[in-house]
Amino acid sequence: MADHDLPRRGFVLGAAALGAGGAGYPPPSPIDTGRVEGGRVQFPDWRAPADPPAGGAPQPLPPGERVGFAIIGLGRIALEEVLPAFAEAKEARPVALVSGSPEKARVVAAQYGIPESAIHGYGALERLRETPAVQAVYIALPNAMHREFTERAAAIGRHVLCEKPMANSLADCQAMTGACERAGVRLMIAYRAQYQPHHRATIALVRSGELGRLRFIEAANTQANGPGPQWRYSREMAGGGALPDIGLYCLNAARYLTGEEPVQAFASIFSPAGDARFAEVEESIAFQLRFPSGVIAQCLSSYGTYENRSLRLHFERGSIEVPHAFAYRGQRLVLQRRAGEVGAEEERIIRPKNQFAQEIDHFAACIREGRRPHTPGEEGVQDQALMEALYRSAQEGGPVRLEPPPGPTRGPDPA
Ligand code: NDP
Repeated sequence: MADHDLPRRGFVLGAAALGAGGAGYPPPSPIDTGRVEGGRVQFPDWRAPADPPAGGAPQPLPPGERVGFAIIGLGRIALEEVLPAFAEAKEARPVALVSGSPEKARVVAAQYGIPESAIHGYGALERLRETPAVQAVYIALPNAMHREFTERAAAIGRHVLCEKPMANSLADCQAMTGACERAGVRLMIAYRAQYQPHHRATIALVRSGELGRLRFIEAANTQANGPGPQWRYSREMAGGGALPDIGLYCLNAARYLTGEEPVQAFASIFSPAGDARFAEVEESIAFQLRFPSGVIAQCLSSYGTYENRSLRLHFERGSIEVPHAFAYRGQRLVLQRRAGEVGAEEERIIRPKNQFAQEIDHFAACIREGRRPHTPGEEGVQDQALMEALYRSAQEGGPVRLEPPPGPTRGPDPA
């Protein structure tokens, strides 16, 4: 129990002990009951301004008003993170499943209250056209399948939230943005970290100039992968190894943290000889990006080392560390800087929020309000162009110059 709870609890217990039951209770104050304003329940802050605000009650939309999603591909990310996150979403709900495994789909449908009539095979995706409750699809298939399913969903007028990496080639990424544009549907790439509160706070700190100018970014996203066969070890299915799967988080973070586009890239790749898993795709990659302001980002990604998903930013007058930056949960935000005559380390306590739910709700709000998503297709196109440049650099053994994207790659900031 927090210290500040004690007086209030004491008061309530005291009132009960006095026998002030039923009609005998004193009438509640508006601070206790709150009020309804614009269809939302609001409570005045019961704490003094010295404390951080409590945040208020979530305001979920009634289920019938939420954006209905069809989940395409019932693999790990769909079942372990995304479907559970819908329970925390306030503007979206899962209403249909598309899967190649009917038995699995029936189990999942029952778990999430989705009728069996809303389960479809991949060949029957177009039947979603007859289901008005499905306004959007969430594509959680192997990377090589993202283009086909984006184009097919767009062709039946459904908005698309597509997992990262967007696709396996620049041509595929551009075909996806083109298809969605022509069909008049929204396309968003599922860059969950851009909706994660610690990353949003870090972006705000960089922009504020509080710690002076940013000089270096160090980002690592590594893990120890298991045996094959699995689609991640197939170039045709995955497009590459550690880079498009997890190194992409470092690349994308360097871009959204600086708010700039890199002008030069240099990459080195390593795969252990004789390991069949890495016959087609890289095990490890280290790369450096140079930004117009002079910021240098140093990034590491591997399928062959112990899990490390860390981020560190070095400024003129301090540094920021985000442990577990690219993990599903467990982020922290620690600042180091001078405090008088000593060096200080301070942690910003930020209320954790489910980044998948934040991402899904952002897309649902964009659909409902006709807005451009914060991470539209253009964001994925630019990352694909940069990943292709990184592979080129590794192959040539030297730095490569980079062209800026043709226009802004991000929509307005998420709420
Ligand atoms: P999984 O291998 O766990 O699942 C993929 C699912 O796709 C399968 O279970 C299957 O579902 C379906 N599928 C259809 N055809 C094939 C095929 N030929 N080979 C393999 N699977 C097939 O993958 P993940 O869930 O880990 O990854 C899916 C996507 O999500 C990828 O693009 C990945 O990069 C991305 N991802 C994103 C993460 C994030 O944090 N945002 C984290 C992990 C992955 P079914 O049986 O229903 O047909």
